[in-house]
Amino acid sequence: MSADAPTRPSKQEYFLLLALAARTRADCLGRRVGAVVVRDDRVISTGYNGTPIGMPNCSEGGCHRCANRETDAYPAGRGYDLCICVHAEQNAVLAAARFGQSTLGATLYTTTRPCFGCLKESLQAGLTAIHYLEDWQPSPGEDEVALAAQYAALRSRFQTFAQATIADHRLARLLAEERLGSEP
Ligand SMILES: [Zn+2]
Ligand SMILES: [Zn+2]
Repeated sequence: MSADAPTRPSKQEYFLLLALAARTRADCLGRRVGAVVVRDDRVISTGYNGTPIGMPNCSEGGCHRCANRETDAYPAGRGYDLCICVHAEQNAVLAAARFGQSTLGATLYTTTRPCFGCLKESLQAGLTAIHYLEDWQPSPGEDEVALAAQYAALRSRFQTFAQATIADHRLARLLAEERLGSEP
């Protein structure tokens, strides 16, 4: 390989880059997340978090819980049933359903470790592997021990559940080399 050959991402890096690209579309006042569902090395759907189709965006006040996240109304880990935002992983799986793509045996690449809800839904959708970039822990609460145990039970059902990495310098290089136009 010559010194100026472009950096070619591995397949895993490629899918993680696509999840990061999906994340740029996220519209949620909370953490922004992007996800892709991959089957037989082909992307079958993408998702990012935000309010359901046709509803006002989270950034426009569409989500009551997100709009009040800085207040004391909803302490961390509380009031999730009031959150109207659909998670990136849910959106990716639901987009596959909308357009008739089977998720059976598929792999999920997501920018953040899935929450409890997304984990159980991924299992139920037949996903067998999950790779996530950034760690996430549920907020501590009185049911923390039970939650952790149930989370662990769910994740043990996946063939792969692993934190993935793209080194910052490598990510920067992959993106820096990608420019529109034909200049060398
Ligand atoms: Zn939101
Ligand atoms: Zn989630």
